[in-house]
Amino acid sequence: MSNQANNGAESASNFIREIIDRDLTEGKYDTVITRFPPEPNGYLHIGHAKSIVLNFGLAKDYNGRCHLRFDDTNPETENEEYIRSIKETVQWLGYDWGDHLYFASDYFEQLYAYAVKLIRDGKAYVDSQNEEKIRENRGSVNEPGKPSPYRDRSVDENLTLFKEMREGKYGNGEHVLRAKIDMASPHMIMRDPLLYRIKHAHHYRQGDNWCIYPMYDFAHPLEDAIENVTHSLCTLEFDTNRVLYDWVLENCLEPDELPTRPHQYEFARLNLSYTIMSKRKLLRLVKEGKVDGWDDPRLPTLAGMRRRGIPPEAIRTFCKEVGVTRTESIVEMSHFEHVLRDDLNLRTPRINGVTESLKVVITNYPEGKTDWIPASYWPRDIDKSGQREVPFTRELFIERDDFREDPPKGFHRLAPGREVRLRYGYFITCEEVIKNDDGVITELRCTYDPETRGGDAPDGRSPEGTLHWVSAEHAIPAELRRYNRLFNVAAPDAGDEDFTEHLNPESLVVKQGFVEPSILDDARDTRYQFERIGYFRQDQEDSEPGSLVLNEIVPLRDTWAEQEEAERQAEIERKRREKEAEKQRQRERSEAGAGDAFGDLNPDQRTEANALIAKYELDKVDAAVIARDEALTEFFRAVSGSDSAPPKLAANWIVNNLIGIMQDQTVRDLPFGPEEFSRFIALIDEGVISARIGDELLEKMMTSGEDPEMIVRREGLRQIGDSDSLKLVVEEIIAENPEKVQSYQEGKKALIGFFMGQVMQKTEGRANPEMARELLTRELEA
Ligand code: ATP
Ligand code: MG
Repeated sequence: MSNQANNGAESASNFIREIIDRDLTEGKYDTVITRFPPEPNGYLHIGHAKSIVLNFGLAKDYNGRCHLRFDDTNPETENEEYIRSIKETVQWLGYDWGDHLYFASDYFEQLYAYAVKLIRDGKAYVDSQNEEKIRENRGSVNEPGKPSPYRDRSVDENLTLFKEMREGKYGNGEHVLRAKIDMASPHMIMRDPLLYRIKHAHHYRQGDNWCIYPMYDFAHPLEDAIENVTHSLCTLEFDTNRVLYDWVLENCLEPDELPTRPHQYEFARLNLSYTIMSKRKLLRLVKEGKVDGWDDPRLPTLAGMRRRGIPPEAIRTFCKEVGVTRTESIVEMSHFEHVLRDDLNLRTPRINGVTESLKVVITNYPEGKTDWIPASYWPRDIDKSGQREVPFTRELFIERDDFREDPPKGFHRLAPGREVRLRYGYFITCEEVIKNDDGVITELRCTYDPETRGGDAPDGRSPEGTLHWVSAEHAIPAELRRYNRLFNVAAPDAGDEDFTEHLNPESLVVKQGFVEPSILDDARDTRYQFERIGYFRQDQEDSEPGSLVLNEIVPLRDTWAEQEEAERQAEIERKRREKEAEKQRQRERSEAGAGDAFGDLNPDQRTEANALIAKYELDKVDAAVIARDEALTEFFRAVSGSDSAPPKLAANWIVNNLIGIMQDQTVRDLPFGPEEFSRFIALIDEGVISARIGDELLEKMMTSGEDPEMIVRREGLRQIGDSDSLKLVVEEIIAENPEKVQSYQEGKKALIGFFMGQVMQKTEGRANPEMARELLTRELEA
């Protein structure tokens, strides 16, 4: 069959493709027809992109088609501005609906006719209970619903009432139309669901033609059927609606239409950490002025991403990479950024820009001289040619961060007396540091080596590092808008508190920087890599030749910050090992000299300690430490009284961690009690959080006194214990550090510490350490 050709498909197989392959093989349909059905009540976000890429992608791969259908059945929130932006966005993403643009509101007359058919067939009735009553009478999972007193209205009465509803005879809420299915169905949704509501409201396309509006569960399957959609794909939360989807079609369509009727399949929605996806919440940020409109580059809206400079190709790649499954998950923002960098790395020319400048005067370079030095746009890509000339002059700007008066270990950049390479320029040596009265460095005086033009020394010596720079005389001033995550917690809307509390006050940082002059020769929508900084593009609205404004699309990874973080992680790891060794020594001591641990206990404390050992099988050291302090003993017994916290584990955490961070407080001064602590222990016991995160969580509880579960939920501290997600992280790290991998394989096994540090950093400490170590060892040895 020609249209079954799945070869050359851009995307990996998934369960939906398997279903389509099966349907085509069985000859159920001859053309695959999908649809993307947004409601025009907001701008599209990256979650919608997943649905767009899936639906349009399938249509393309199977030589079928995908409809763009506005699901505009709700008059109150929809408008033309949203229609325009949605169309623009779908096209920007690279998809084309051809002639197949539809509006659900165009089907209102047909939908009405289907409803009348159901009434005629005795399968729908007008209910005059109010919605609250209807909800009350729906029953519960364990309890069947109560039939409405209006359930047995005659067909004629129903027809008349429904017609009058349409004619506007009744006010909002006076009647509804319901399907007559089964008030005792195990599927709550089948207990006579609502089909139509009275809503006296102006519809942006239909005006005041209608005052009754169909419900999603009734309208959507019929919209699909009217358009001959074959595979109707929606997100997992519609799983329970599928029985109703099927019921509506089976009871509205003619028997000969049934074999080719549409079917609904559900896939997991895309969630991204550090942001929110709900249109309603996005609308709040826009309305309350928390961001600068729907296309604010910090938003996960596609309009925002477009303005920021993110290429549509990168979004498509990302959507394909996260794949189509039926398991809910949260994709890490760092993964999205990784895909972005991969995409931009290949397609952007490299130029120089300085975000925070520090003036450098080359004292042995002639005043007034300009040397135009050729510089490649594609230094890392031998297949691409193309270069510009960059002016070298006596006064330059370098990045302020690239100089340290007192450089820490591992800082391979400029410092007093050091020589560095200016990329494509010369080697320079810092001779003198000039400061103002406040001690702020205002200028560096350097000398250059005239033999090193282009960035190479004839004697082959290599300097401390390579810096980017611009000529002070030629540099173009530019406003650089650098973006951080919009929220400072991983799951801003997971808790009970308002999500706007977690907005990151530093989500936008504006720098007055400088860019090399070649930028003025390029098209305004060119994307660049500013060497050593990040990817940038001019803001297409605010930037003008006389006053450049550039958005940072995504930073390059900051290896310096990463290294510091890796060192921090290594330090934590070291401390933990030390603590464990100390504990072990104590244990050995107390076992050797029996009773030693009890040495400084009075007789009562000794009795208590022995009781703890007998009842909870604590080890001697733990028992002694706890028994020595009456308040602590009480606390421990309360914790162990709860069923959730295993006593030995609780004792361990009390002795090894809690006491340490309490310092000279007593357990009675803690901002939390034994109940919260038991819940904390349970989280560790159940593996919800790792021990490493346990330390951090305990400190958070110390400062806020909040419930541990709430903190975990809000800050996304759950341990990553599924090997698939960890494997991705491990593979990423291995790919990013080829030299380290090689050294490891040549025998430097201690590098495992470095790799573990990387895993912990990328997962923000949430990786299950044993699993991470095992995966790393396996991948590194492979
Ligand atoms: P929101 O909850 O953000 O308001 P929505 O689902 O109400 O979104 P619609 O306009 O109804 O927005 O969505 C259009 C299509 O996009 C639907 O098929 C929906 O399932 C899909 N979609 C929405 N959000 C996501 C997401 N996060 N991941 C994948 N698909 C999504
Ligand atoms: Mg919706």
